[in-house]
Amino acid sequence: MLCTRQIDALLIDRNEEFEDRSKLVNLVPLFEGSFTYAMMADECMTSRAPWRIQVLRKHLTQPVAAASFAIQASACLSYAPPEANSEKPSFDTSAMRLLLDGHDLEARDWAFELMAKSDLFVSRRVGDRVFASPDFNEPMDEQREKTFERIRFLASKGAFKDFFSTSVEKLLRRTALFETIGIFDHSLVIKLGVHFHLWGGSILFLGTKRHHDKWLQITEDLQIQGCFAMTELGHGSNVRGIETITTYDPLTQEFIIDTPCESAQKYWIGGAAKHATHTVVFSQLLINGKSESVHAFICQIRDAKGRVCPGIRIADCGHKTGLNGVDNGRIWFNKVRIPRENLLNSVADVTPDGQYVSSIEDPDQRFGAFMAPLTSGRVTIAMSAINQAKLGLATALRYALTRRAFSQSIHLPEVLLLDYPSHQHRLLPLLAKTYAMNFAALDLKKLYFNKSPKDVKIVHVMSSGFKAMFTWHSMRTLQECREACGGQGLKTENRIGQLKAEHDVQSTFEGDNNVLMQQVSKALLGDYFLARMKGRPMKGMGLEHLNGPPPVLPKDLNSAVLRDPIFQLSLFQLKERGLLERLDEQVKTLIASGKSTTEALMMSYQLAEDLGKAFSERTVLESILGAEQQAADSNIQGVLGLLRTLYVLSEADEGAVFLRYGFLSPEQSQLIHREVAVICGELRPQTLHLIESFGIPQPFLGPIAYDWVEANSWNNVNP
Ligand SMILES: Cc1cc2nc3c(=O)[nH]c(=O)nc-3n(C[C@H](O)[C@H](O)[C@H](O)COP(=O)(O)OP(=O)(O)OC[C@H]3O[C@@H](n4cnc5c(N)ncnc54)[C@H](O)[C@@H]3O)c2cc1C
Repeated sequence: MLCTRQIDALLIDRNEEFEDRSKLVNLVPLFEGSFTYAMMADECMTSRAPWRIQVLRKHLTQPVAAASFAIQASACLSYAPPEANSEKPSFDTSAMRLLLDGHDLEARDWAFELMAKSDLFVSRRVGDRVFASPDFNEPMDEQREKTFERIRFLASKGAFKDFFSTSVEKLLRRTALFETIGIFDHSLVIKLGVHFHLWGGSILFLGTKRHHDKWLQITEDLQIQGCFAMTELGHGSNVRGIETITTYDPLTQEFIIDTPCESAQKYWIGGAAKHATHTVVFSQLLINGKSESVHAFICQIRDAKGRVCPGIRIADCGHKTGLNGVDNGRIWFNKVRIPRENLLNSVADVTPDGQYVSSIEDPDQRFGAFMAPLTSGRVTIAMSAINQAKLGLATALRYALTRRAFSQSIHLPEVLLLDYPSHQHRLLPLLAKTYAMNFAALDLKKLYFNKSPKDVKIVHVMSSGFKAMFTWHSMRTLQECREACGGQGLKTENRIGQLKAEHDVQSTFEGDNNVLMQQVSKALLGDYFLARMKGRPMKGMGLEHLNGPPPVLPKDLNSAVLRDPIFQLSLFQLKERGLLERLDEQVKTLIASGKSTTEALMMSYQLAEDLGKAFSERTVLESILGAEQQAADSNIQGVLGLLRTLYVLSEADEGAVFLRYGFLSPEQSQLIHREVAVICGELRPQTLHLIESFGIPQPFLGPIAYDWVEANSWNNVNP
């Protein structure tokens, strides 16, 4: 902002044979641009300002004798790498990467290298750098074919070998590969996920030996292409309401699948539009006129030559706002007959003479068992969302460490974006949350793969809460990172803007986020209700803290207290406890006033949503605390401690719930608000090393993350 005194100073300089005229000419638009702001500042509140600008403009634009001064070429911007604007790392970044990725670093690096060296994955070269990314400008059909080609390429290199092994070691390696592939492209990992996790996972979890023997190996070898047909035009979140009907014919020992009306058409089925040959179809099972609710069946939809099978009709879902490398389709079944053995029968079966048998008596539990394949999807999405946030942050923060804008005075260099406290405040809390959530996603993954039957509930609750919370976080982070890169954030080749479109769907598929959050709070409330009714303590899901008296927060929230993990845990526990007690109270009051339990829960949606988030936030905090304890190195512990504090305080700063229910006073809230800014400043010197610890190799970040002057040079227009 320039004020009249500065303008005067420049005029005086001019009178004294100011030499660098080009500098002044460049400043004229700045005067005009900043005029409105200048008028707002006290010292510039003068009606003379417009007049002075006029004088200056005239002064500078009038012709001047060539001999009176020499025009100096103004120095061009030169790119300095982020290392030039950072301190040395205070911690070992390789050890931090190991902590973040948690396992299979070699497998990850193998996949990164495989992709970065293949023309199927590389989209651009700048000097000796390659950039790997799909070409989103290709027509939809080409994007789909490229995605399929990449799958075949990865399969040919052995990426999916032993995919259906149940060894935890192999399961983790397989997940590491999927996470790495997902860093390249969401469509690629989703098409793989539909085939292997949804189709293959249904065969594995819902089928029995006869299905495993017949289908798993040919699935791994890509001899068939599987898809997963659950959603219908009329029913998505409400799976129980689907309208596809399957009946049984004991004479031929066949099931007959039928789409009775338009709203029963299968919708959004990944792989169905082009490539899938088989599907797991979810349908109501009608036996002897009685509905046995939703069951899953294997049905072929195309032959080996890609021709649609008799009785099946398929239409394309068409172009989407993202994820166009996946061929989503719609399917209608016209009384399609399949063998009796095609019922996935681990949960229930139909005998040859048409009797329905199930080892699970309770229809709710039976339905829950059919939803099992979706849990693995949520676990995967939670980590994938964090990886997308990392991509955005790595790019935006590298750019912020190389890009300058405005100088504080004309004699000083322009200010580095990341040296603006406001820029730090926009990005560093998101970085801290990404770290904290990364550790939580990792804990969830390990719990999922090592789970015993008693863990099924906690896995369901955690995967639902994390999937929702992390995908919302990822979208918010990508938007902030996009804006933090200014116009460059909108260039497809710089990835961030496009990532938003590609990952938007994560909040909807494999369980709509809002619906998932309701499930979290319902599960918590159910446990709380039962414990109170039976007079027993709370056990599991980290809710044991409810068995003691509520924590008391210190009155004086000085910096040391705010950084203390005990205070932080108490704050989050206090909130979770308060919300659970309020929700319980509200639901009971509504039921007492004559509402049904369902109605009472529906009407308490605000508390329920807040509780779901509070549970997830507290669980995430426990994970980052665990990671700190796990880190052998005190330097890593130090920086993780700062990130943990920033995570907690920024959640407390942004969450209206803390003030709304009085968990914090307005004064305490102000102290927290101030401390957030202080910690951002403390993290600034280590920012580069925190994003380097993500371990994302150069080809997977856009050109803007590196020498963006060179990438945009004339020589690189048509290299
Ligand atoms: C790109 C893409 C790929 C997909 N791939 C597959 C696939 O391969 N196979 C498959 O079977 N499905 C697939 N799906 C479908 C996906 O799982 C569904 O879109 C999802 O379950 C949501 O269902 P819906 O679209 O019908 O939305 P709805 O369930 O109708 O929800 C619409 C809105 O209503 C709200 N809402 C719903 N119920 C409640 C409630 N009880 N209380 C309050 N609010 C509520 C939701 O929060 C949401 O905002 C895919 C979807 C997309 C977009």
